[in-house]
Amino acid sequence: MLILTSAEEATAISKEARQAGKRVGFVPTMGALHQGHLSLVRTARAQADVVITSVFVNPTQFGPTEDFSKYPRDPEKDSAMLAAEKCDYVFLPSVEEMYPPGATTWVNVEGLSEKLDGRSRPGHFRGVTTVVSKLFNIVQPDFAFFGQKDAAQVAIINKMVCDLNFDVRIVVCPIVRESDGLAMSSRNAYLNPDQRKQALVLYRALMRVQTLADRGESNSARLKVAGEQVMAEESAVKPDYFEIVNRDVLDPVADISGGALVAVAAYVGSTRLIDNIVLTGKGTASAPR
Ligand code: AMP
Repeated sequence: MLILTSAEEATAISKEARQAGKRVGFVPTMGALHQGHLSLVRTARAQADVVITSVFVNPTQFGPTEDFSKYPRDPEKDSAMLAAEKCDYVFLPSVEEMYPPGATTWVNVEGLSEKLDGRSRPGHFRGVTTVVSKLFNIVQPDFAFFGQKDAAQVAIINKMVCDLNFDVRIVVCPIVRESDGLAMSSRNAYLNPDQRKQALVLYRALMRVQTLADRGESNSARLKVAGEQVMAEESAVKPDYFEIVNRDVLDPVADISGGALVAVAAYVGSTRLIDNIVLTGKGTASAPR
């Protein structure tokens, strides 16, 4: 596996591969890799001829009071994990490489970027769509792999790709969880043992909604209350939102009969965690798109 730090080099390598008739698969990450990230790399490995993973902690998606400076970084360990998955290239640019002094252009998906996480993290999705656009232009992949873990991000990236005619196929991969149900996240590393237990309430709340939906409850308001009640059982966890929305436009739905995304965000101490499930019209979790 080769480590690339220059955008120009990454573009040249991808171009050469595509000219040779190879399909390029791209996995954008912020590093501190875990099995969730690696599942994306494995899917890319299975679907593409050349796999490029980026590891870049993107400053523009962090708010001024958020955890940019303390976000876990271990590029050597990440590179070893990626090499073990037979990733071909890791793109590890510096902040200056991605944002040369004087850059003033932003990509913003209006409307969607202010929903769910965008409501509590103003500017977050503008940072995400700007860096992902830049990475798409640099890597020019045939396929790009994203996790359903970040459900709002998936909706926003899909909209951006459609609105701006990016020539890339977005592949969404299922959420990878710890054995007790906690969704894997680089931010789980912030949790102490007590908080790690408390964090399970997010999954419990989602499972409560899943169970009720499986039993035939389709009224979103009642499902939301049931989920929020479970969240309230863990007083140390401060909910940010618990929403039942359309998975594409992220607006609340009154009834889940047509399918819905159940998304939760909460603070465990100062660590903000997110999780979600997708309900089909029949009330069972569907495979991600
Ligand atoms: P991040 O490094 O947090 O920006 O995540 C990079 C990619 O990995 C995103 O597409 C995430 O949705 C995905 N990802 C993160 N955690 C998981 C997980 N537990 N299961 C599946 N995908 C994940």
